[in-house]
Amino acid sequence: MSTDTHTLVIIGASLAGAKAAEAAREAGYEGRVVLIGDEAGAPYERPPLSKALLRGEAVPDDARVHPEGFYADHAIERVTGTVSELDTVTRRVGLVGGGWIDFDAAVLATGARPRHLSVPGADLAGVHSLRTLDDALLLGEAIRAAGRVAVIGAGWIGSEVAASARQMGADVVLIDPAPVPLHRVLGDEIGEVFRALHAEHGVELRLGTGVEALQGTTRVEAVVLGDGRVEPADVVVVGVGVTPRTELAEAAAGLRVDNGVVVDQYLETSVSGVYAAGDVAAAWHPHYRRHLRVEHWANALNQGQTAGRNVAGHREVYDRLPYFYSDQYDLGLEYVGHGQPGDEVAVRGDLEARKFVAFWHRAGAVSAAMSVNVWDVVDDLKAIVGGTVPVDLARLTDESVPLSEPAD
Ligand SMILES: Cc1cc2nc3c(=O)[nH]c(=O)nc-3n(C[C@H](O)[C@H](O)[C@H](O)COP(=O)(O)OP(=O)(O)OC[C@H]3O[C@@H](n4cnc5c(N)ncnc54)[C@H](O)[C@@H]3O)c2cc1C
Repeated sequence: MSTDTHTLVIIGASLAGAKAAEAAREAGYEGRVVLIGDEAGAPYERPPLSKALLRGEAVPDDARVHPEGFYADHAIERVTGTVSELDTVTRRVGLVGGGWIDFDAAVLATGARPRHLSVPGADLAGVHSLRTLDDALLLGEAIRAAGRVAVIGAGWIGSEVAASARQMGADVVLIDPAPVPLHRVLGDEIGEVFRALHAEHGVELRLGTGVEALQGTTRVEAVVLGDGRVEPADVVVVGVGVTPRTELAEAAAGLRVDNGVVVDQYLETSVSGVYAAGDVAAAWHPHYRRHLRVEHWANALNQGQTAGRNVAGHREVYDRLPYFYSDQYDLGLEYVGHGQPGDEVAVRGDLEARKFVAFWHRAGAVSAAMSVNVWDVVDDLKAIVGGTVPVDLARLTDESVPLSEPAD
């Protein structure tokens, strides 16, 4: 039995937190590992919540981060509860309902919460957001019983929910103030591919207009748009983005918070021995040379692991490029990098056939790339986005030139 009396406390028991615990143990951390989360049940992954699980094609246990017994086998103590205070001076965390746990090292993995829609009627029954397993189970039931589902926000989650709801047989209207779905990330030209995709699958799109109010007496009955149109709906899903859960860090002494908990390339905060990982972390990225806060599954997984290993004494730099995937109907995509507003876009392949790779670029540097229904190219895309030599766009978009050789 270990005589190590150190304690690692991990706040937030989802993907980043669970991976931090696993990695600390794998890297030889012998002290106590306490994983505290305010959701009941073992840690789970969220991507299925808008896809297979929402549609009833998967069950909650399919989404668990680790198999049953993993935490006990690795002497990871799981505590179900809410951390109300992070005291960086006395180095302890306080739990709602009483009790303190001292720590030597801590990982903040508190993630993000959905933004609230601030219009009249937003709190009516029948208005859903989607972040947790319980949200997904409730929403799945509601969609199955729905007449017409209105999805507010055509970002990733809104677009995936619209696709799933159609696949579940519901009538769906997708509403967004931008001219095309996913506009902020993809821009006009590539966003148009997704507009056409949803339209072909029978989603009614109301683009270029915001939402003024939700109508109903106790339950929602309709969505009033900025242009005055009234869209009947008995289920409304709000997918208007998330905000990082930084409240503990904001109240703690010495922690820098700026659109997330600010960490260096080792994922360490401004307080020694306190790390942050996943959706809540604004991490210094050596490639982009600025702090990035990334709301992706792979980022939570990999940052969690780096934080865990660094707690165990490693000094690992987190320099992975952001990576994201999404499925909508029969379209699958992988996105690498971090595009900037104003980047130009170049396309390799066929937009209409929805089989292409798009590159976002500026002055010969590719900031991001996305493959749509083109598989096994993600390593090439990472090499292109992570490269330091200017690329030849003509070669990059020429399908006769292998993606592995665009700069030659
Ligand atoms: C519906 C949906 C679909 C998604 N699909 C994709 C996808 O296809 N591809 C992709 O790359 N990404 C996807 N994502 C994003 C991905 O799931 C997130 O990036 C990931 O979950 C972030 O993990 P995290 O551990 O950092 O934070 P979270 O998953 O947000 O977990 C944080 C945990 O901390 C808990 N917590 C917070 N504060 C406290 C406290 N004070 N005390 C105790 N516990 C606390 C929270 O309750 C939560 O359980 C999706 C997300 C959602 C919601």
